[in-house]
Amino acid sequence: MKPFTYVKPPDFESAIPAGAAPRTKYLGGGTNLVDLMREGIELPDHVVDITGLPLDAIEELPNGGLRIGALVRNSTLAADPRIRSRYRVLSEAMLSGASGQLRNMATVGGNLLQRTRCPYFYDTTAACNKRRPGSGCDALEGYNRNCAVLGVSDSCIAAHPSDMCVALAALEAVIHVNGPAGVRRIEIADLHLLPGDTPDLENSLVPGDLITAVELPPPLGARSTYRKVRDRSSYAFALVSVAAALQVEDHKVTEVRLGLGGVGAKPWRAREAERLLLGGPADESAYRRAAEAELAPARVHADNAFKVRLAEATIVAVLRELSLAGVNR
Ligand SMILES: Cc1cc2nc3c(=O)[nH]c(=O)nc-3n(C[C@H](O)[C@H](O)[C@H](O)COP(=O)(O)OP(=O)(O)OC[C@H]3O[C@@H](n4cnc5c(N)ncnc54)[C@H](O)[C@@H]3O)c2cc1C
Repeated sequence: MKPFTYVKPPDFESAIPAGAAPRTKYLGGGTNLVDLMREGIELPDHVVDITGLPLDAIEELPNGGLRIGALVRNSTLAADPRIRSRYRVLSEAMLSGASGQLRNMATVGGNLLQRTRCPYFYDTTAACNKRRPGSGCDALEGYNRNCAVLGVSDSCIAAHPSDMCVALAALEAVIHVNGPAGVRRIEIADLHLLPGDTPDLENSLVPGDLITAVELPPPLGARSTYRKVRDRSSYAFALVSVAAALQVEDHKVTEVRLGLGGVGAKPWRAREAERLLLGGPADESAYRRAAEAELAPARVHADNAFKVRLAEATIVAVLRELSLAGVNR
């Protein structure tokens, strides 16, 4: 491992200037960063441990939403009674990720910025424009079963790995940031960037930006759930996942949110499907038409074409489940 300095600041006044120094990374739970440092993929000169900062509370907001501190652990968030009862899709997404031990360590801020699991990103002998800009993309002609089909480019087809972010996309969460330029709020849709020609630029943060919280808007009236399709029933990343909320009145869709995981270069908000569904009939053929429209722009490669049908089928199945569910979720 390359040598680096380590500090654990007690307050924002010292943390943010330290984080803004060149080649510096913040350390949350370390479950992604430390692995990448061991593999020689992340090579920071300085590591700023933020676990001494007061960012581990989940607070009620006056508008009925919640403010989740960036250091809240994934397992704490999943188990919080307010999350379980008012934002079920988020609790289910958290519980579907990683393992119990990892969720006990992993933080909300770190989950937002976790990096792709594309095997060529992890293989330092392979070409990867995300890891080494301009080196090429071995996934295009290589083993690309886990790669994305939406939002991809000729430079990168890596899938975004987070389950939590898919639920946050459906919930329209807002990310709170404190950085060298002061505090600001970023819509979750604007946090992650599509790869385009610069897949190494993964988010809209600038050096020194510290994620301090995730704000959840007031709960939806709709029922919600998260379904993850994967090779094993536990401890595996999504091939396809769907975060969905659906409200039906008089057989018409009155509210719908859809997020997709495993298929997108970033956490994918299925806006075209939502547009087609809203106000229309709550029936299986409408769900199928909406799912097919969302996946129509998919760009598939040799091993991942199956994700298109799998995503369509999973969207339809989840919407059917929500429209049939008798209990309010
Ligand atoms: C074996 C294994 C299986 C996994 N399976 C899944 C899965 O199925 N689904 C899933 O979603 N995830 C999965 N994960 C990933 C896991 O969710 C992430 O590793 C974890 O969420 C990262 O959180 P962390 O606090 O440990 O982040 P860290 O490793 O500490 O940091 C990750 C990144 O975020 C940055 N960072 C951290 N906190 C902040 C902050 N507050 N502000 C600014 N930058 C910050 C760091 O600098 C770093 O770049 C798995 C991980 C492992 C090791």
